[in-house]
Amino acid sequence: MKKGNIFVISAPSGAGKSSLVNALCKQDEQVSLSISHTTRAMRNGEANGINYYFTDNTHFEQMIAKNELLEYAKVYSNYYGTSVVKIQECLNSGKDILLEIDWQGAEQVKKIFPDANLIFILPPSIKILSDRLHCRNTDSLEVINTRLSMALDEIKHATQFDYIIINDNFNHALIELQCIIQTQRSLTKNMLDQLTQRFFKEI
Ligand code: 5GP
Repeated sequence: MKKGNIFVISAPSGAGKSSLVNALCKQDEQVSLSISHTTRAMRNGEANGINYYFTDNTHFEQMIAKNELLEYAKVYSNYYGTSVVKIQECLNSGKDILLEIDWQGAEQVKKIFPDANLIFILPPSIKILSDRLHCRNTDSLEVINTRLSMALDEIKHATQFDYIIINDNFNHALIELQCIIQTQRSLTKNMLDQLTQRFFKEI
C-alpha cells in the first residue's frame, strides 16, 4: 500500500496556522493531525491528548534519550516534539499526516523524510501579527512581546520551506493549502497504486 504524504506547517504564532489547520482537517478525512508532546503549561480551553500530550521535563528528556521522538525543539523555553511511533502508524495506514511544528522541527523532518512538504504560513505584516496576538487574549504581555521579537527571526527561515502562504484572507489561504495538498496527492509517483488497482489489477 502507498504510504501517506507528510505535510509540515510552520508559522510565527498569530499567523493563523491553527485555524487553517483545523478548517483543513474538518474538510479532509485523508489528513490526520499529529498531536505533539510539550512541557508547556496547558492553556484555558486546551485538553490533554487533544491539543497536546502535556508532560514534564523529566519525561520529555527520557523520550529524547530513548529516541522516541521524530523531531523535537525548545520553543519559548519549553520542549515540543513529535512521537515517531504515531507518525509511522499513520503513514503505514496510507493516511496523510500533518505536523504543526516550528521551523527547527520542520528542518529535522525534511532530513529524515526528504519528500515531506514544508509549508510556511506568513501573516500579512508584523503590525497585523501584533494585533492578532493581543486580540486572542491567551498569553501575557511579556509572552506576546517575546513572541513578536522572535517572529522576525522565524520568518527568516521561510526560505527553507517548499511553499509559502500569506494569510491575508482566511478563505484564500485555506484554498492555497488545499491546492498544495491535492497537488502532492496527484503526482504520478503518488498515484501508481490507484492506477494499478483501478486499471491493471487482475480480477
Ligand atoms: P504553542 O505553545 O503556541 O501551542 O506552540 C508554540 C510553537 O511550538 C509553535 O510554533 C508550534 O508550531 C510549535 N510546536 C508545536 N508542536 C511542536 C512539535 O512537536 N515540534 C516542534 N518542533 N515544534 C512544535
